[in-house]
Amino acid sequence: MTRRSMTSADVRGKRVLCRVDFNVPLDGNTITDDTRIRAALPTINWLREHEAKVILCSHAGRPKGKVVESMRLRPAGERLAELIDVPVIIAPDVTGDALKATIAEMSDGDVLLLENLRFDPREEKNDPAMAKELADLADIYVNDAFGAAHRAHASTAGIADYLPAYLGLLMQKEVDSLGRLLDSPDRPFAAIIGGAKVSDKIAVLENLVSKVDHLLIGGGMANTFLLAQGKQIGKSLVEADKVDLANKIIADAEASGVTLHLPTDAIVAGDIKAEVGTVVSVDAIPADQAIFDIGPETAHAYADIILGMKTVLWNGPLGVAENPAFAGGTRSVAEAVGATDGFTVIGGGDSVAAIEKLGLADKIDHISTGGGASLELLEGKELPGIAAIPEE
Ligand code: ADP
Ligand code: MG
Repeated sequence: MTRRSMTSADVRGKRVLCRVDFNVPLDGNTITDDTRIRAALPTINWLREHEAKVILCSHAGRPKGKVVESMRLRPAGERLAELIDVPVIIAPDVTGDALKATIAEMSDGDVLLLENLRFDPREEKNDPAMAKELADLADIYVNDAFGAAHRAHASTAGIADYLPAYLGLLMQKEVDSLGRLLDSPDRPFAAIIGGAKVSDKIAVLENLVSKVDHLLIGGGMANTFLLAQGKQIGKSLVEADKVDLANKIIADAEASGVTLHLPTDAIVAGDIKAEVGTVVSVDAIPADQAIFDIGPETAHAYADIILGMKTVLWNGPLGVAENPAFAGGTRSVAEAVGATDGFTVIGGGDSVAAIEKLGLADKIDHISTGGGASLELLEGKELPGIAAIPEE
């Protein structure tokens, strides 16, 4: 299903309200990572080149419906102005007559940023009155906030009832890339799923198990699978109540002809802060130690599989990659994903951080900007922010 793209809209001279995700990490007033602002630039530049009046809106943090000084969008607006090298009008309000008057003064190509949408308690309630007030500011609505697409809020969903609505360029890239994995992947297709817990990724595993050719499991969640196979896993992070689920996924994989891969060796240590770990077989995990990474044999086997794939999805680190002693498995997998000729997609905050830290981001076809949103898409859910946009 294809949703309407903003490139099919006639935006010249129009007021375009564009929902972006400027929820960037701040240290005081300094933005420590401007990836999300940069990710919105193609849409913002396209709108300016096509002579729209660009009215941007975003949330930041969790102000819970009140004005919170430290959560104002001014730093994001100032950073945007630097990146696009034109002034950005930073409005003090989310809706209202004063704002309308400011917008009436805008020239084609001007850029204005509303204040944090979540300062208004009606935003997260998807209150139709707020959606209507936002809609009153503009002629056209564009949603480019993939990171917020799994939320049905006034600015991500409700507003589409009142204005002609379109997907922005970033949203389109996300939907196309993640959709391609689920609908028409080139084969063979492997998914590498890691991270801390099975419970975070159950729905993703369940949805992918019928779609991939290889399912590679790593990270803390692999421990629950190892336990399901009757292995002793010492003090490793585990969800004993999810053993049945792990067994079900193992059975589903077998029934769908999917090869499920589990670690054959591991790096273990006495605690997560250890400066060095020991390589052991998964059949010989010491009772007083925990698994903190996949071992070199597993890393090698996983890399070999990845290099032979036409499509690869990676979500979740293979070990406690924050500690260099346990980052080796994640590095091997990241390098293989970067090196494979196939179509590659990475989602998940910690996995994306890992690939960026390794300097391999430019070797990946698509790095998703939405943690929760990309997970929900991969779970096969319909995201409210996408469903609100009419079909083409
Ligand atoms: P993503 O953000 O990419 O989706 P997750 O948030 O699911 O990834 O998982 C990342 C977390 O998993 C990291 O904090 C990492 O330390 C943890 N983790 C990975 N492997 C292990 C392990 N063997 N034991 C404990 N924690 C682990
Ligand atoms: Mg995470």
